[in-house]
Amino acid sequence: MSADSKTERTVSFGFEEVTETEKVARVKGVFRSVASRYDLMNDLMSAGVHRLWKHDAMNQVNPQPGERHLDVAGGTGELARAFLTMADKAGKRRGIDRPATAIVCDINDAMLEAGKARADNEKFAGRLDWVCADGQNLPYPDRSFDAVTVSFGIRNFADREAGLREFRRVLKPGGRLAILEFSHMTVPALQAAYDTYSFNVIPRLGSLVAGDAESYQYLVESIRKFPTQDIFRKEMETAGFSRVRVTNYSGGIAALHFGWAV
Ligand code: SAM
Repeated sequence: MSADSKTERTVSFGFEEVTETEKVARVKGVFRSVASRYDLMNDLMSAGVHRLWKHDAMNQVNPQPGERHLDVAGGTGELARAFLTMADKAGKRRGIDRPATAIVCDINDAMLEAGKARADNEKFAGRLDWVCADGQNLPYPDRSFDAVTVSFGIRNFADREAGLREFRRVLKPGGRLAILEFSHMTVPALQAAYDTYSFNVIPRLGSLVAGDAESYQYLVESIRKFPTQDIFRKEMETAGFSRVRVTNYSGGIAALHFGWAV
């Protein structure tokens, strides 16, 4: 063991405790392994409901013509495409011809490649960019973006606080941060059924469809380790976001945390 790894902080990787460096490497491995089946698995696991959560999240972000959007841990780019589509619609409604732009930023090139291969990117030629970078150390100047979004990504960060600090730094004053993440059930009566589904069905589905049960076991464990809605709201406030509000979806299976950079 090196002197560095002796002193390095440990964090959760699912139910295991690992060093931050190891978490980054293992998270990369998880998403490299599932990249080609990622979109299909999302639809299967949630019976398509993740699309409704994302749709509501983007309604709250309220994209506008001419805005710059950064989708951190953006994977295959679903939120970035939604941002551009909604900004275009808003522009049409208001008679403003100023195209919005979006960047999908992800630490994993395999997820970005799966996103870039999608045919529906064509309509956004020249204003949808793909960048391989760590959300905890963003390669952008201060006050660069009107909106930052993260969906189902921050749970995988080795240092969540560093991530929130970076989102705050790159947002313009008055910019919006929307973080959609799996969360904690608000309906106790459904907890047992949800646990059975999570720990028994999801890893099997992962094995069957993506040939990888382990990555989906990590998924369900990492959800349990993510802070509650209230604690995460406080983390956002501590990072400098104001008027942070929480929207629970499907009884708290997922939650949106929305706040303003001041
Ligand atoms: N946002 C997409 C969505 O909602 O479909 C993808 C979500 S996927 C569950 C999580 C993504 O987070 C993966 O693509 C992974 O590579 C990315 N990721 C994990 N840690 C990251 C980090 N530190 N910086 C940037 N991306 C990261």
